[in-house]
Amino acid sequence: MSELLSNYVSGQWQAGTGAGTVLRDPVLGTELVRVDATGLDLAGAFRFARETGGAALRALTYKERAGLLSAAVKVLQANRDAYYEISTANSGTVKNDTAVDVDGGIYTLGVYAKIGEGLGDRHYLVDGEAARLAKDPLFQSQHILSPTRGVALFINAFNFPSWGLWEKAAPALLSGVPIIVKPATTTAWLTQRMVQDVVNAGIFPAGAISVICGSSAGLLDQLEAFDVVSFTGSADTAAVIRSHPAVTKKSVRVNIEADSVNSALLLPGEAAGNEAMDLLVKEVAREMTVKSGQKCTAIRRVLVPEALYSPVAQALSARLAKTTVGNPRNEGVRMGSVVNREQYNTVLQGLEYLKAQAEVLHDGAAVALVDADAAIACCVGPTLLGTRNAAGSDASDRVHDTEVFGPVATLVPYRDLAHALQLIRRGQGSLVASVYGSDPAALAHAATELADSHGRVHVISPDVAALHSGHGNVMPQSLHGGPGRAGGGEELGGVRALNFYHRRSAVQASTAVLGPIQA
Ligand code: NAP
Repeated sequence: MSELLSNYVSGQWQAGTGAGTVLRDPVLGTELVRVDATGLDLAGAFRFARETGGAALRALTYKERAGLLSAAVKVLQANRDAYYEISTANSGTVKNDTAVDVDGGIYTLGVYAKIGEGLGDRHYLVDGEAARLAKDPLFQSQHILSPTRGVALFINAFNFPSWGLWEKAAPALLSGVPIIVKPATTTAWLTQRMVQDVVNAGIFPAGAISVICGSSAGLLDQLEAFDVVSFTGSADTAAVIRSHPAVTKKSVRVNIEADSVNSALLLPGEAAGNEAMDLLVKEVAREMTVKSGQKCTAIRRVLVPEALYSPVAQALSARLAKTTVGNPRNEGVRMGSVVNREQYNTVLQGLEYLKAQAEVLHDGAAVALVDADAAIACCVGPTLLGTRNAAGSDASDRVHDTEVFGPVATLVPYRDLAHALQLIRRGQGSLVASVYGSDPAALAHAATELADSHGRVHVISPDVAALHSGHGNVMPQSLHGGPGRAGGGEELGGVRALNFYHRRSAVQASTAVLGPIQA
């Protein structure tokens, strides 16, 4: 039998008492490791994190905690090769896709270390200016932000075992809040290994970081009033978390990052084959194939003027045809597999569901795998669908409602800008929309029109062709999250991320009292 990975709780490595769930290589089908959380004293684990870890973290200043994040960055960088091997084996990713997760996570941690340094040697944050409460300016109100004295529980999705850990851990630990992370079972190995390396390096105080691999059973039952939960995953699981008594009765604060039917929009007035169209084509092809389309931010709907439907379909199909799919260990392969057999089946089912209201413009099923056995490897070729014409875009409800979590996108032709914006809104709120065009005023107008229904609007014009950070790349400086079906959450966005881990309070007092508080 394969190795059973340990959990780290109450300051100790502890193996579960069950047989464990097997984690597999999605390309070779081989058994890798097992995870199990049976028999852990969860109440004790949460208490230890809250009381021992929380007290020790809060005793440090923001600047001191930033120093711990920097030290963790060094440890993770030193062990990077091991993370790449785990990612290839467990997630089926080629090197470039591993980088998005592993290096993206380490980079995010580093950015928060820098932000923390700038916050200085304080134990709480001052929020805005004081406001006068009486005619006499002596009595005023000053808001402050204090780290919550609870624990942060992270329940993460399978697609980002590294980045998903660190993008949440960095602002929490910088805020002085201990974390307990429960990675998705399928890819828990990388999260567990990274936590193990950081814990064994002795950087953080005991109780600051815990990891529980395996079932989520009983985790939410441990939550108390000052704890917070940050969840990334499906809308169905999000609904379970939102309706848990800890949330409904104890007001445990929850952040939800759920699924999203993201769009790319080529503005009206662009000519076939011009630079704006080329930029759209390049970005859509990249978004469809990076991590085999298993990114919550990936482009699912591609909106183009009706007249450009065929030119874009042809250009995109030509690019997708060059994507080699198969064993990520083979240097000639551009795209590896999806994460497991279950996801493979779910992607194929989703494709069939969309196809009932769309035509196939580029068929990934026709792709021959490189260095991989099609009967075992969970590889899906990139597939481009299309709704044919503007009337088809209106008639199709599925393309606007369905997130197929794989290398699949649908071309959606529109009549005019108002029609395009209306179609995009049928996604019911998304993480990100990207807009392509060459007229700055038209781009600015579209961006502000899309802003209320998207956590991020990524605008690509020819002048930033070589500079932009990518539609699907989540940069720690910018907000990540989206309204409505995207979960309604907010993460990252620089120092804004710290808000979730702090409690805001208004101190009403004499200016003589407020002076030292503001200092
Ligand atoms: P999922 O099935 O909802 O699982 C997410 C996490 O929830 C896993 O750790 C899972 O544990 C846990 N979980 C399952 N049932 C639970 C319960 N009853 N109580 C508490 N936790 C529970 O989602 P997924 O299939 O892993 O992730 C794919 C989805 O995540 C996609 O729809 C994608 O769009 C979304 N996603 C969103 C973002 C974002 O930032 N917005 C990022 C990445 C992914 P087990 O693995 O042990 O079941």
